[in-house]
Amino acid sequence: MSAKPIKGIAHDTLTFILEVSKSTAPNEFAGLLRAENGIITEVLVLPGTTSSEVSAVMRLFMLPMISIAGSVHSHPTPNARPSMHDLAMFVRTGNCHIIVGFPYTEDSWRCYDVNGERRELSVIDIDFEQV
Ligand code: ZN
Repeated sequence: MSAKPIKGIAHDTLTFILEVSKSTAPNEFAGLLRAENGIITEVLVLPGTTSSEVSAVMRLFMLPMISIAGSVHSHPTPNARPSMHDLAMFVRTGNCHIIVGFPYTEDSWRCYDVNGERRELSVIDIDFEQV
């Protein structure tokens, strides 16, 4: 697990998440978040991730040995609250968990900590070409 506290997500990464969530709907999209210097810049979609209208199941045993900041997944409804299943997954995948609800806009996502409590996540504009 990454030791650096997460302070934000790159705007481009958030846009990517919203676009993938929209194009995957009504199925759920799920992935893991990676951060650099405390900012989420990467979404990792694990091989073997299955998606259905019921739930997106991540095969965590396929998790490579890398540091994971958290998780992201979409809900096909405007309800962006974590389910019991989500909370069980949060415990295993870091301390920053994004849930995107329908209609997958910049207003329809929430971030939660490992316990399923709402947490702040700033959206940060980064020029990736400078990195
Ligand atoms: Zn969920």
